[in-house]
Amino acid sequence: MDISVIVPLFNEEESLAELHAWIKRVMDENHFTYEVIFVNDGSTDGSWGVIEQLAKQYPEVHGIKFRRNYGKSPALYCGFDAAQGDVVITMDADLQDSPDEIPELYRMITADGYDLVSGFKMNRKKGDPLSKTIPTKLFNATARKVSGIKNLHDFNCGLKAYRNEVVKNIEVYGEMHRYIPYLAKNAGFTKIGEKPVHHQKRQHGKSKFMGWNRFVNGYLDLISLWFIDSFGLKPMHIFGFIGTLIFIIGLLAVIAVGALKLWALHKGIARVLVTDTPYFYIALTMMIIGTQLFVAGFLGDMISRNSQERNNYQVSKRI
Ligand code: UDP
Ligand code: MG
Repeated sequence: MDISVIVPLFNEEESLAELHAWIKRVMDENHFTYEVIFVNDGSTDGSWGVIEQLAKQYPEVHGIKFRRNYGKSPALYCGFDAAQGDVVITMDADLQDSPDEIPELYRMITADGYDLVSGFKMNRKKGDPLSKTIPTKLFNATARKVSGIKNLHDFNCGLKAYRNEVVKNIEVYGEMHRYIPYLAKNAGFTKIGEKPVHHQKRQHGKSKFMGWNRFVNGYLDLISLWFIDSFGLKPMHIFGFIGTLIFIIGLLAVIAVGALKLWALHKGIARVLVTDTPYFYIALTMMIIGTQLFVAGFLGDMISRNSQERNNYQVSKRI
């Protein structure tokens, strides 16, 4: 099979039939053998009904139905798991990504030898408000810096193409779909390219990712990934180093406080101590709590990566 198209979706009933017809047209015109896997991420509308209808009519259409809404990354994970095509293409369900890009993406993977090609939504700036474009720019700049993948402008584009081997060897979890190129790079797939793609406004329904928390979560995920990439296999190198450093500073401080006190007592000098101001305690407590939270976050992340439950999704139906 040439291509698997994976479509994660959450409440997109109005778009599915049109999207399928468009994909089918492109595939037939180019004589590809293919499958379309719709991953229904706990939709509460009629999406699953539409998928069942399509699957009945077209043997190349498959569906995976989650019992509840897990998020885009789990949906992609299950789609990747099921994909059989030599090239795997992911695409949003909302008709914002154009299936017309498929043949060129396929060519870049098979002929140019890319492991992963990410779409780049060139023409989006016109429609979007500044409140969306500025954080997106900032997000991509940071992701480029941290991941070391310098040639990507748009990490979060839903339209991407992969060599089959890539999707079988990466694990998208949590909200890591924003960083799949980074995951691929960490797994040793380094030929990562970009293709400017046509992108249009959402036709039906609303965006499923709203509000400021997507950026906060995005950055936290990036820090986690960076951490796992750098220290995941040797956490002691960082914790041990920082721990020792802080311990030595603390020890020096204790010695200094003790020595000053003894000296003052000896000389009979009465003076205001640093510890008489409340700020000393506030700063101290904050630093300790901050460090602990940070460490606890990373530990939690590493535990969750190794947990047996991490990719245990409730799939109620497959067609
Ligand atoms: N999506 C999903 N699960 C979710 C949220 C979104 O499968 O919990 C799907 C959604 O249906 C769409 C894709 O992920 O196919 C991208 O979502 P959306 O278009 O809302 O994001 P935006 O384009 O606004 O970034
Ligand atoms: Mg969208």
